[in-house]
Amino acid sequence: MANKTIIVTGGAGFIGSHICDWLIDEGDKVVCVDNLVTGKKDNIKLLLRHPNFTFMEQDVSRGLKIAGPVDQIYHMSSPASPIDYQKLPIETMMVNSLGTKNMLDMANEKRARILLASTSEVYGDPEKHPQTEDYWGHVNPIGPRSCYDESKRFAEALAMAFNKMHYVDVKIARIFNTYGPRMRANDGRVIPNFVMQALKGYDITIYGDGSQTRSFCYITDMVDGLTRLMNSGKSGEIVNMGNPDERKVVDVAKMIRDMTNSNSKITFHPLPKDDPTRRKPDITRAKDKLGWEPIISFEAGMKKTIDWFSTQM
Ligand code: UDP
Repeated sequence: MANKTIIVTGGAGFIGSHICDWLIDEGDKVVCVDNLVTGKKDNIKLLLRHPNFTFMEQDVSRGLKIAGPVDQIYHMSSPASPIDYQKLPIETMMVNSLGTKNMLDMANEKRARILLASTSEVYGDPEKHPQTEDYWGHVNPIGPRSCYDESKRFAEALAMAFNKMHYVDVKIARIFNTYGPRMRANDGRVIPNFVMQALKGYDITIYGDGSQTRSFCYITDMVDGLTRLMNSGKSGEIVNMGNPDERKVVDVAKMIRDMTNSNSKITFHPLPKDDPTRRKPDITRAKDKLGWEPIISFEAGMKKTIDWFSTQM
């Protein structure tokens, strides 16, 4: 079905802008809403000229009015890197609570389907490995990551309540570490940090001893998964989205240094409080229900990502 009207909140952000690209290619009408706190207009600069694309600079926690019908809402807006959300804890909690409420109200009023971008952070520092959707998590409610973890947990609970009380068609994607072009070079996350450090010949900064793990999903795989989830059958579905290819942070550092032919020194620094020790998605549900699994290898995705960061310097 072409020519749907689709709202993408956080549409000028990293994942949001790639969703906008995908939807425009599909022939849909896209309304991109972003307050540009962590998003960047540069990410959507080619779309701004497209007749099916509208940009609204707005904070969805303050409400959003859209005239006419809306078919789908991708609710992607929130700071997502630890550095960003720790700088903006109140804004992060407001967008995930009030912002999510406003978008669920809109979905209810317009009878639109809504996909909530949730996160692997709802599992906190997980005691279960790999993480399945039925795991409840291990989250510190007042720790440095709580503004993000707890507000995303609240957002999930609110989405399920709207599903139950108002039959709003919600899908919840628990997004694991995702990387690729359009990540902000200074967003503080491990991939942009290591790539920029390696390209500039600066020290590569490992926090802790680097034995902690993450599992990295390339952006095009993620967008494929998210759009499949949005267009899948069951309402109230919760699905892990990520690549189960688990890597130690120290191995990521070495790989990036090798791939960039860099002479950077690998250095070790204190591990931030509550930094999860291991993280890897169990994606059985996504495979079974959506026929989805990532197809881009970490090596291939990193090559594209390094090439992109090189052009940004
Ligand atoms: N990390 C690191 N050096 C950096 C940035 C991050 O060692 O310069 C580590 C961080 O402590 C964490 C992992 O890399 O263990 C992933 O961090 P990121 O901020 O990308 O995302 P998270 O998965 O923690 O939300």
